[in-house]
Amino acid sequence: MNEKMYGLGSARSVIREIFEYGKARKAEIGDENVFDFSLGNPSVPAPLCVKETLCDLLETKDPVSLHGYTSAQGDAEVRKKISQFIEKEYNSENTPVSSPDLIYLTSGAAAALTCTLTAILNKGDEVLALAPFFPEYRVFVERTGASLVTVPCKSGSMRPDLDLIEDAINEKTAAIIINSPNNPTGVVYPEEDIIGLSKLLSKASESIGHPIYLIADEPYRELVYGDCFVSYIPNYYENTVVCYSLSKSLSLPGERIGYVSVSPRTKDAQKLYLALCGAGRALGFVCATSLFQYMMASLLGKTSDVSAYEENRDILCSALAEYGFSVTKPDGAFYLFVKSPISDAKKFCEKAKEYELLLVPSDSFGVEGYIRISYCVKKEQIERSLPAFKALAEHYRKGE
Ligand code: PLP
Repeated sequence: MNEKMYGLGSARSVIREIFEYGKARKAEIGDENVFDFSLGNPSVPAPLCVKETLCDLLETKDPVSLHGYTSAQGDAEVRKKISQFIEKEYNSENTPVSSPDLIYLTSGAAAALTCTLTAILNKGDEVLALAPFFPEYRVFVERTGASLVTVPCKSGSMRPDLDLIEDAINEKTAAIIINSPNNPTGVVYPEEDIIGLSKLLSKASESIGHPIYLIADEPYRELVYGDCFVSYIPNYYENTVVCYSLSKSLSLPGERIGYVSVSPRTKDAQKLYLALCGAGRALGFVCATSLFQYMMASLLGKTSDVSAYEENRDILCSALAEYGFSVTKPDGAFYLFVKSPISDAKKFCEKAKEYELLLVPSDSFGVEGYIRISYCVKKEQIERSLPAFKALAEHYRKGE
């Protein structure tokens, strides 16, 4: 048996652990009395166009091809539509930032990431991740024999620290993962950061003699509030691979559909794409679910009603600030990253449980002293939880 896999399978992630605790607690004292802010499971239903498109596909498309295998990398027509959409929506330059022949359909962003990392990495390579980061990055990277090097973001703003990134780069650096809008902070990296990072990576790639791939992990791309601008990174940096899914933007996490798009400007793009096809083959990630491939092609650009998340964010942010928590209003995703009133965030989250508040300590995301609150929950849960947050804040104010 593979001991490493046994270790991964038997140790539940901290987030899952809290979620399972929440389920048990709800059974004991009732759903409405437990305030579970642990999981990033969209609370807004998929829009009606999803159901309509699926019904239409089921009624009109030949069932043999609808439910049959597509090409391993995804249906050609679907890939063409995705590429056309990317060009129309995001290309701000004269040369293409996508190609149907460089798109690979996957089971969500997680499979997009594992395939991409498997295609790029060799044993001994290093991948940079900006802390705080999505904990599965470590699992995905280390499986390949490479190691994950964490680079802290600027404290306070949680934006990339270009000086620290530059210091972390060496000959072994094969890739950097960027996630904006970000889980767990909700921060959207401003364009100036993307420009600065792109310049830095181009210079560093040249000096170490091989490209540093930028893996843009973008399941939250459309989850932004107000007029916030999300940079499409292939416009800025050549060696970019975009990993995308409909899990969050269209509230379809259980349907497991997404894609990898290798920028045609990437050095040896065609070779990297073939490595990606090889990785998909080796991992058994061939032919993402056909029905949802076809659905995706019909619904490009459609999203769930994200205004519900914005409302949740606003209610929580003003209440938490009023109770004395140090909180910055994020521009995207559906997470708040709040400074823990005590340095030990795990201890704080344990105390929060006494008030039936289920929060995630930041240690699992690679930094200490913060908590993550997933506000993709019903508005009623937010409203009902406020007295508990208030009582928790008072507990610490009194120095208990
Ligand atoms: N990347 C980030 C930052 C995430 O938060 C998640 C899921 O929560 C994923 C990737 C995986 O997304 P998917 O469910 O599409 O596999």
